[in-house]
Amino acid sequence: MIELRTPAEIEQMRPAGRFVAETLNTLKSEVTVGTNLLDIDRRAHDMIRKAGATSCYIDYHPSFGAMPFGKVICTSINDAVLHGLPFDYSLRDGDLVTLDFAVSVDGWVADSAVSFVVGTPRDEDLRLIDTTERALKAAIDAAQAGNRVGDISAAIAEVSYAAGHTINTDFGGHGVGREMHGDPHIPNDGRPGRGFPLKPGLIIAIEPWLLQSTDELYTDQDGWTLRSADGSRGAHSEHTIAITEDGPIILTDRSHL
Ligand code: MG
Repeated sequence: MIELRTPAEIEQMRPAGRFVAETLNTLKSEVTVGTNLLDIDRRAHDMIRKAGATSCYIDYHPSFGAMPFGKVICTSINDAVLHGLPFDYSLRDGDLVTLDFAVSVDGWVADSAVSFVVGTPRDEDLRLIDTTERALKAAIDAAQAGNRVGDISAAIAEVSYAAGHTINTDFGGHGVGREMHGDPHIPNDGRPGRGFPLKPGLIIAIEPWLLQSTDELYTDQDGWTLRSADGSRGAHSEHTIAITEDGPIILTDRSHL
C-alpha cells in the first residue's frame, strides 16, 4: 500500500532525517585508517541511545537475511557493496567505505547512505563515488510531482551507464514512513514516463548503488553482506526525500552540516 503524507506529517519526519544526516556526517568525519567496523557500530549505537531513537536494523530479519541483522549500521567495504554486517576489521589505507543507516525517531523513519575513501584514494574509486552521487542528484531532480517512478529510475541509469558503471537491480529505493521499507519500489534502472505516478506527500528513499564492472553478487558467509562477483568495488548514495507541490525536500540532507 502506498501512503501519502500531509505537510504536517512531513514536518514530523524532519527530526528523523536530521538525526540520520548528523550521525552519518559525524561518523564520516571520525572514520579513518585503523578504525574498526565494530567501533563504528558502537559509536552509532551510542548516538541512537542518546537521541532516544530506534534502530531499524538491529532486529531486521527479512527473507533474504540469514538471521536478525544484530547491528545498527551497515558497513560495506570495497567489494562488499550492500548490507555489510560490521565485523572485527580495521580499515586500511585506500578502503572504500559505505555507511548505510536507518532509524526511527518519534515513530518516523529516515534512511540514508554515503560512500567515501579512507586514506589515499584510488582515482577509479573517487570516480565511482562521484557517479553515484550525481546519479542520486539527477534522480532527486526527477522526483517531481507529475513525474513517475520510471523517471527517477531512468535518471539513475542514464548517469551511471554514461560513466561506464554497472547496476544490479535486485535492490533499489523504497517507500519510507512508519516502517523502513514500503511501496513503491524505486528501481535503479527503468523507462521514463512509466510506473507509479509521483504525488505530493509521497516519501521515498532513493538509493543508487553502483558497481565498477559486474552486476553479479554473492552473499558472504556472514549471511548478510553482499559482495561483487568479480571483487570490484561498489559505492552507494541514498537520501530519504519528500515529494511536494514545491519540489522534492531532502529530509536527510547533509549539505548544510
Ligand atoms: Mg539505506
